[in-house]
Amino acid sequence: MGDCNLEGFISNEFAKLIGKIPDQDYDMESILNVFREYIPAMASRYNIRYCKAVLAEPQRGFHGAMTLSEREVVLFDDRVEPETNDYIAEFKMGNGGYVKVISGIDKNCVWTDMMKSESFIMARTVYLLMGRARAMKELMRLTFQDSLTGVGNEARLYQYISELIDKQVFHHYHSNFINIKNMKLMNNRFSDRGGDRIIILYSHHLNEFVGNDGLVVRLGGDNFFVLIKDEREQDFLNHMKEVVVEFNTPDGTSVPVHVDARIGYYNIKEHDRHREAMRKSDIALIVCRKTNASVVEFQECMSEKMMRNKALEENFPSAIENREFVVFYQPKADISNGDEFKLCGAEALVRWKKDGSIIPPLEFISLLENNGMINNLDFYVFDTICSDIREALDAGYPVVRISSNFSRRHLADANFANKIESIMKKHNVDAKYIEVEITESYDADDNEALKSFEQRMHALGVQVSVDDFGSGFSSIRMVKDIVADTIKIDKSIIDGVGQNEGDHIIVSHVIKMIKELGKDVIAEGVETKEQADLLLSFGCDKIQGYLFGRPMPKEEFVRQYFVRA
Ligand code: C2E
Ligand code: CA
Ligand code: CA
Repeated sequence: MGDCNLEGFISNEFAKLIGKIPDQDYDMESILNVFREYIPAMASRYNIRYCKAVLAEPQRGFHGAMTLSEREVVLFDDRVEPETNDYIAEFKMGNGGYVKVISGIDKNCVWTDMMKSESFIMARTVYLLMGRARAMKELMRLTFQDSLTGVGNEARLYQYISELIDKQVFHHYHSNFINIKNMKLMNNRFSDRGGDRIIILYSHHLNEFVGNDGLVVRLGGDNFFVLIKDEREQDFLNHMKEVVVEFNTPDGTSVPVHVDARIGYYNIKEHDRHREAMRKSDIALIVCRKTNASVVEFQECMSEKMMRNKALEENFPSAIENREFVVFYQPKADISNGDEFKLCGAEALVRWKKDGSIIPPLEFISLLENNGMINNLDFYVFDTICSDIREALDAGYPVVRISSNFSRRHLADANFANKIESIMKKHNVDAKYIEVEITESYDADDNEALKSFEQRMHALGVQVSVDDFGSGFSSIRMVKDIVADTIKIDKSIIDGVGQNEGDHIIVSHVIKMIKELGKDVIAEGVETKEQADLLLSFGCDKIQGYLFGRPMPKEEFVRQYFVRA
């Protein structure tokens, strides 16, 4: 016996080697697995008679106090008579728990030098095995865990779904796509790092709520996916309305932060394939975003619309390339002379000519605005307009000012004005032929951007008009801040003209106010002579609408409205 015992092996050499790995890097199961594999193989050579492991995990007790709960696992037991010395190797976990491996070795064991050096090699092997277990664990973590929050990731989701499908219980779950609504606000308030912290707190909150009744995964950014048992879905949706996390600010105070989510959900049916179940809740989330709702359940009709939109989106790049977008022109009239309408401008309106039919802009503009492709389209249209103007000028026609619609999204582009200028230059078109129409908005930041854009346009001599005035968010207060030359009153308001007295009072005052602020006013969507007369009596002497002319192809427009000088 003497120094030739297991102590030299498990407790000393082994512990020395093992000691190089920080305790918290272990997990219980991987330690156990190494010993399970290793001890029986070396038992006879080293006269090990038995081996057991004691695993202790911290647990919250009945009154909230932490206690250690122990369990014992016998790895190997070959005792003929209990005459053994016990040697203990202990591995501490980061959470306060531990694993003790107790090996009982025959008291009569004689250790040779050979065995001693062998034992060193074996200890080394165990160390490597532990390392491998650790690497495996790390690999599993990287593969299946979201690195920021520690909840599952997409790979974990597919793993979990296949477990549910194997057990034939997938259809007993609801799928939920979740997106945090006020993330941008929180990032602004707490910085990006604070925002990350909130995402972590939020995902832990979700995880705790869902527990063993489903799975929470983060799909990157502020997007989450939750599978939850049918019977808990309603409870889950209710709960999600009011999620508050406690956020610790850098100065140490804790502030409650409301996290508002959008949820698209779907009740998974018996024969649904998993991609479909996910896609359907995703579609519901998209609808949720578009309608500004908080919770939307998937309906089959959503799917058809999405399919159509998807096809449009996919076809868009080639449609630009194949010049499938054409520009129609709708005349604007000066009606100041009463019965005699005089052409005073035109608005360019895009159409998509596809497979022989014409798709109106209402079917694709908002879609392209959402995915950012509108930027390409608007400049494509503007380029066509400038080219058409050049062609008409070269042919000697008395060209009028043509207005072009631009999405508000361009205001975020610092190069917006430059791009307009360079297209005009490219076609050698003077600013007096150009007007830019931009839809009004209630967003104050946006209005700042609009102001500086307008100043740039004025410097060039290009006119700017605010489109759709009165359709949605415009506030009376805002009008005074608009630097635009012209305000275009939306058709929805003009529709009331000739219908009822109340609308007349509003429209006449809106017109008066715009004129008093020194701006031009034009009414759109004018369909009857009665409307035109009333508008003129209210002080509005410019109109656009079917009464004077519909949007039409360039050739037709030129034929009808341009008389060669
Ligand atoms: P908008 O700028 O308000 O254009 C006026 C819309 O009202 C046009 O519809 C026009 O055809 C229609 N309209 C004109 N007069 C009458 C009328 O008397 N009665 C009725 N019922 N409708 C009338 P359209 O051409 O379908 O365009 C719809 C919207 O699509 C436009 O509304 C504009 O916001 C957008 N749009 C069109 N072309 C472009 C473009 O090149 N770029 C961008 N960003 N948006 C565009
Ligand atoms: Ca317009
Ligand atoms: Ca409009």
